[in-house]
Amino acid sequence: MIEFKCPVCGQMTSIHEESVSLGAEVLCRECGAILLIDKVEPLVLTELDLTDD
Ligand SMILES: [Zn+2]
Repeated sequence: MIEFKCPVCGQMTSIHEESVSLGAEVLCRECGAILLIDKVEPLVLTELDLTDD
């Protein structure tokens, strides 16, 4: 498991290594936000903005 800090809720959470790939979507287990993997090394995640109108 890889630990990361959720940019939305600020909590530490973790994901499986297999889930880590550039552009992949990850669900924060703490707040339920959908995060997009921006960088893999080091791991950088951004909140996926679903409001696109
Ligand atoms: Zn979160």
